[in-house]
Amino acid sequence: MNKTPENIYPIFDRLLQRTAKEKLLGQKAKALWLTGLSGSGKSTIAQKLEAILYKEGFKTQVLDGDNIRSGLNNNLSFTVEDRKENVRRIAEVSKLFVDCGIVTINCFISPTEEIRDFAKSIIGEDDFLEVFINAPLSVCEDRDVKGLYKKARSGALKNFTGIDSPYEAPQNPALEIKTDNLTVDESAQIIFDFILPLIKYS
Ligand code: ADP
Repeated sequence: MNKTPENIYPIFDRLLQRTAKEKLLGQKAKALWLTGLSGSGKSTIAQKLEAILYKEGFKTQVLDGDNIRSGLNNNLSFTVEDRKENVRRIAEVSKLFVDCGIVTINCFISPTEEIRDFAKSIIGEDDFLEVFINAPLSVCEDRDVKGLYKKARSGALKNFTGIDSPYEAPQNPALEIKTDNLTVDESAQIIFDFILPLIKYS
């Protein structure tokens, strides 16, 4: 946990508590952390999942890699330090949403165990649900949604996860979704069924 900088006096304990906000919204907050290769299906599943949650009356927020990098994190590159800073800010934002009682869906490649543990340490172990969106590299490469695999193979794009930068599969995810065997609808439904008991207000 980061220590509080000098001359900073947080007032967390004087703010309206999360439990009060959850009661108002009639739901419990959690942060789903979707990790997987580019093209594995994180964004597509997040969109479908959010639509299901909305239909069922849940308030949600999707935080998605390219969206965040086009706004809040548009000053960050893909160096090791900046990738870490990218995830630190995302996890802090995620935590703010969770503290508001919002079900938060994070879609980030987050390729290493270390970086996912870092996110978990910020969001908090009880609220962090790691979901491995798993498709073989060959399938992701065939899909090549953004044309990035082609660029990486040609050498025009360096340090691309799965090609010349490693992806460490989660060892103990809360859930694993194999998107080469499932449809988008099935994938989103499995995550919804998994999270429902955890976010239902009782
Ligand atoms: P990511 O966000 O992980 O980079 P995208 O969601 O942008 O991946 O792209 C995944 C692609 O794979 C989409 O074109 C989507 O239609 C396709 N796809 C095929 N099957 C699935 C599935 N079960 N879940 C998610 N995406 C799938």
